[in-house]
Amino acid sequence: MCRHLGYLGPAVAVSEPVLRGEHSLYRQSWAPRDMRAGGTINADGFGVAWWRTDGSVSNYRNPMPIWTDPAVGDVLSQIEATAVVAAVRSATVGMPVDRGACAPFTAGRWAFSHNGVVPNWRTTLGQLATSLSPAHLLELEAPTDSAALWLQLRARLTQERRGSDWVAGELAEFAGSVVAAAPDARLNILLSDGETLWATTYYHSLSLLSDDASVVLSSEPYDRDPNWQPVGDRRIVTAVPGHVCIEAF
Ligand code: GLN
Repeated sequence: MCRHLGYLGPAVAVSEPVLRGEHSLYRQSWAPRDMRAGGTINADGFGVAWWRTDGSVSNYRNPMPIWTDPAVGDVLSQIEATAVVAAVRSATVGMPVDRGACAPFTAGRWAFSHNGVVPNWRTTLGQLATSLSPAHLLELEAPTDSAALWLQLRARLTQERRGSDWVAGELAEFAGSVVAAAPDARLNILLSDGETLWATTYYHSLSLLSDDASVVLSSEPYDRDPNWQPVGDRRIVTAVPGHVCIEAF
């Protein structure tokens, strides 16, 4: 299954958290260690999102393997940000390999990534989408479970700032409704507004590295730092530098 990473901390080149460590997200595209039978490599594209000083989010996505794109080293290394969300993708069988299917998905000040699968996503997620308007549904960026999850979650999120507990509550309620409708789902979500990282675990791996100045959530640890903590299953994480909250959902 895809691998994703979120970083908050001192300003860095947006390529830096992607390339950081001997087991970087970049390397995890061809040599992941903990895919839990959900694919073998993450070569179906990648994406990087970062936040501008006005709080809005930008992203760069490419449906080709990350190692084929010189922009990672040549262009993304020239942009600095204090918040980055990145993902490398292993397309679920039956889903297109297309730029619009690559995480992170973005809107306004939000960036979203999904590591996992929702079996029979059209039926399962369709049942949960009955309150959404046709115009909103037509904004689906790609015919994939991840794009449909994002379409639904973003309908719950506001563009004005609310407390991080409110966002965690919305995410927990949303994730709970998805796994109630699809208990076989794999649902590791990563969400950020550039100031806080939120994440869910449901079947797939996630690790946390945090200190007073920065915080990283990553599908797999990118180095041997002994401070990496594995996040248990069926958890919701709310993280800012210096403060992390992990709860069951
Ligand atoms: N099902 C999603 C997709 O195809 C995510 C895949 C994954 O986590 N490997 O994009």
